[in-house]
Amino acid sequence: MTSTPLSIPGSKTSAATTPKVGIVSLGCPKALVDSERILTRLRAEGYEISPSYDGADVVLVNTCGFLDSAKKESLEAIGEAIKENGRVIVTGCMGVESDMIREVHPDVLAVTGPHQYEQVVNAVHDAVPPVHDPFTDLVPPEGLRLTPRHYAYLKISEGCNNRCSFCIIPSLRGDLVSRPVASVLREAEKLATAGVKELLVISQDTSAYGIDRKYAEEDWYGRKVKARFLDLCQELANFDVWVRLHYVYPYPHVDEVIPLMAEGRILPYLDIPFQHASPTVLKAMRRPAAQEKQLDRIKKWRAECPHLVLRSTFITGFPGETEEDFQFMLDWLQEAQLDRVGCFKYEPVEGAAANALPNAVPEEVKQERWERFMETQKAISAERLKQKIGYTLGVIIDEVDEEGAIGRSYADAPEIDGNVFLNGETNVKPGDIVDVTIEHADDYDLWGSIERPE
Ligand code: SF4
Repeated sequence: MTSTPLSIPGSKTSAATTPKVGIVSLGCPKALVDSERILTRLRAEGYEISPSYDGADVVLVNTCGFLDSAKKESLEAIGEAIKENGRVIVTGCMGVESDMIREVHPDVLAVTGPHQYEQVVNAVHDAVPPVHDPFTDLVPPEGLRLTPRHYAYLKISEGCNNRCSFCIIPSLRGDLVSRPVASVLREAEKLATAGVKELLVISQDTSAYGIDRKYAEEDWYGRKVKARFLDLCQELANFDVWVRLHYVYPYPHVDEVIPLMAEGRILPYLDIPFQHASPTVLKAMRRPAAQEKQLDRIKKWRAECPHLVLRSTFITGFPGETEEDFQFMLDWLQEAQLDRVGCFKYEPVEGAAANALPNAVPEEVKQERWERFMETQKAISAERLKQKIGYTLGVIIDEVDEEGAIGRSYADAPEIDGNVFLNGETNVKPGDIVDVTIEHADDYDLWGSIERPE
């Protein structure tokens, strides 16, 4: 069993500002390889590896939890690192027993489990932020992105605690693991500093953010911020960029963010995957928040924030869906007056619990219901778009060519919603946010002109 601060070939003498990480690696060769991977990643990010406790800004203890004797040794190693250095992050096999570690050593900064490279590296970032050197770093501080420069996806958690019967994400990605709040905010700050104008908050279940971390508080510019949906939204609102929330479930606590939308601090846009409306089908789907009174909630939100835009997705032809269930959903759509809606015909996914449900809906019935659904919603969406004519909306520009510009209002997420066409407007560039008077609408898109001072 190795129990030694590792030193990595090529680590150089410390410069005063370079963050330094020490490591104690316990356990089997697999754990040693994990330690090497973590250190390789940290080294690539500019961290130095400290061969001693007192030279380190933070110490990682990669634990072994195979036998009771190994657990004892791991707890002792954590204790020694706390005594000698004070700033300790625990990872490795024993990390799955986070409560026990914290009971013995309440001062550890973070505990992550085996193979959680991303989480352990994020914990190091939180404890000792990396220093960006523009002359030597190959990667910009905000990371490499595949989206255009002016918008970026901000992933706040991985995995999901729900068990929807048609979905296999929890078995692929595990239960909800939320990122520490300071890590999310640091990434958002870097993106905003790099010129991003719109942050798209994503996860499998955005409104559940922080539940797994028991809403752990962290320091953020001298303030304590909780890893909690509302607190995260409040903090993101401070970055002076558009903040758009995706994959939100209508739990009661979502009500708390509506005032932020009404005040214009985050975009009045909620992407809520309702998937169905019939209580029987929702129950068979095992949907989260299915029991909530969704229509009442939507009415309440709109009373508080009249410009709120709601986008959603639905599934038709789920096993057991009757004509009555389907009609219930169409009536619900008429009541709910959602702005943007996608609809999928149910397809079994290998490994999903729903595959075992009786009363599969025949393909031709699925198709016929899908067409009726789309027709119903198309009329609703078109009417809601028409209501925007004559209003002035902020529009973020995505593309410009010799014929004009194409942008999106707060009501349109990139790729999935509509566009605002600005014919003849060539004097703008991607990422500009301009005030546009809406002049025309069709079933999906809007047309308008940029407002200019008289
Ligand atoms: S569909 Fe359900 S189980 Fe799957 S990721 Fe979404 S909330 Fe989680």
